[in-house]
Amino acid sequence: MSTSTHPVTNQGLIQITTVEDMIRRRVAEERARLEREAGIAHKELHHFHKPIERPFTASQRGKTTLLFGGLTWKHEKLVHGALEGLGYKCEVVPTPNVRAFQLGKEYGNNGQCNPTYFTVGNLVQYLQRLEESGQKRDDLINNYVFLTAGACGPCRFGMYEAEYRLALRNAGYDGFRVILFQQSGGLSQGEAGGLALNLDFFLSILNGLNMGDVINEVAHQVRAFEVNPGETDAVLEEVVDYMHEVLKKKSPWNVEAKLGKVANKLPMKGVLEYLGKFLEQLYSDDYVAALNHCRERFNSIKVDRFKVKPIVKITGEFWAQTTEGDGNFGMFRFLNKEGAQLIVEPIATWINYLIHQAIQQTNDQRGLEEGAVLPPMWRVDKQAKIEWNYRNKLMKLKIAEAIFAREYHKIINALGGTGHKLVDQYELQRMAHPYYNSRAAGGEGHLEVAKNIYYTNRELAHMVLSLKPFGCMPSTQSDGAQSAVVAHYKDMIYLPIETSGEGEVNAHSRVQMALGEAKAKAKLEYKDVLEKLGKNTDELKAYVEQHPELSDALYSVPKYKGVIGTAANFAIHVSEKMGNQVPYHVEAH
Ligand code: SF4
Repeated sequence: MSTSTHPVTNQGLIQITTVEDMIRRRVAEERARLEREAGIAHKELHHFHKPIERPFTASQRGKTTLLFGGLTWKHEKLVHGALEGLGYKCEVVPTPNVRAFQLGKEYGNNGQCNPTYFTVGNLVQYLQRLEESGQKRDDLINNYVFLTAGACGPCRFGMYEAEYRLALRNAGYDGFRVILFQQSGGLSQGEAGGLALNLDFFLSILNGLNMGDVINEVAHQVRAFEVNPGETDAVLEEVVDYMHEVLKKKSPWNVEAKLGKVANKLPMKGVLEYLGKFLEQLYSDDYVAALNHCRERFNSIKVDRFKVKPIVKITGEFWAQTTEGDGNFGMFRFLNKEGAQLIVEPIATWINYLIHQAIQQTNDQRGLEEGAVLPPMWRVDKQAKIEWNYRNKLMKLKIAEAIFAREYHKIINALGGTGHKLVDQYELQRMAHPYYNSRAAGGEGHLEVAKNIYYTNRELAHMVLSLKPFGCMPSTQSDGAQSAVVAHYKDMIYLPIETSGEGEVNAHSRVQMALGEAKAKAKLEYKDVLEKLGKNTDELKAYVEQHPELSDALYSVPKYKGVIGTAANFAIHVSEKMGNQVPYHVEAH
């Protein structure tokens, strides 16, 4: 807003004020006049102010435990290792249960979304348990801090921090510290205090999360076809423990450790340090060797890919589609028991989406800078500066996008290459935008609609199950859009389930019904494939027995056009291997 002088004659003095001040004053005067006329009493406004929290200082680091949670146990264990590697004491708050939900309702505000109740109540429950085990309340308040991601909204996620504080106060833990890092705040959010939100912190966390994603996905792929029940879970536990130790032992790249005291005399020490850390992340193969070991462990599991199973893609809201307990009615466990093969959603999709949205915003705001006065056209120098700022920001975001995908795919390859690559965000946007405006942020934004179309259209899943929390604002919006999507894609088996602290039996029975349809679809598809191949399962099985590499758990089965199920794709592949001509084409990834 430009400024101008406005003469206010008061004792003959000229007071300088902004146009904005003048408008504000006149609006206030007019409001007061209308209120007087309408007989409305003027009320004092009391705005909310974020409470001033006791700091978590560097000197407290050694005796303070960082608490965190809210993901799957695999992600949490790996992030735990990463944080320990950075020198923090930390503990995971276990997966929330119904009791946590009830505590969240008891101590928090009314009218929150389901994940708020579960996660907030879970922290209270954890502290209560520590207290029951003999720890003093004061010690808990002084020696623990809770670490969580924050955002400025626009959905209820923006209020989580305040909810944690309110519930903690109501439960008697007033003064317990909640520390936030911003999910869209970049790779450096402050060095000061007990928690250094710097490049080391974010790279370590991202590595832990990415490994958690891929290990989790591979385990789901293998578990669906394991011959000996429980074998995958045993290997999974073993490899997560192993990677936890690898992450814990990895110390961050440090210019001083490499160059000794000379490093302190270098004028560009900071830049060198930053570059060194990035290059180490990009080119070191420390993790690759360890992940190769995990690959071998998974590969040792005996599988039978001729079990015909419907593939169910899980989507929905970030937390509801990730948690593995009462928060989504134990849906993964239930689907496994019911004979489904799951494609779970990696956290990486969300991170990729955040980068993508930042790119969109930068493009949308091209030429506009917050608070800046637009220069006239003839100020070519200023116009050029604005353009340069835009291009510079865009370039950094694009590099971040490319590096993130590269790192994620590096882990996929190290773990045998069977994991799904990150879905192109531009394609997701293109698919969803006609139904859900891709600029409407909050929650999963357009992603839920996009994934439904993508996994159905690309013939990657027989059924899409969306886990949508009770009280979720963006999910309510996408419900409307999904009606239009389902109307346009007639063959789609799409089921939205509202998750809550109660109603598990009802939810499971609805899923069972839709899954029945998906099972029938998968069986029909397999039968059709065998007919077209002119083979039966026994013939194909006999060939596989003679070629044991085909039974490796991480053997890469090609995806054929028009074929969804693993058993059906495997049957075509085996038939091809037997030297037969098959009426199918491998689909390019
Ligand atoms: S996306 Fe929905 S469930 Fe998740 S925090 Fe926002 S409002 Fe709550």
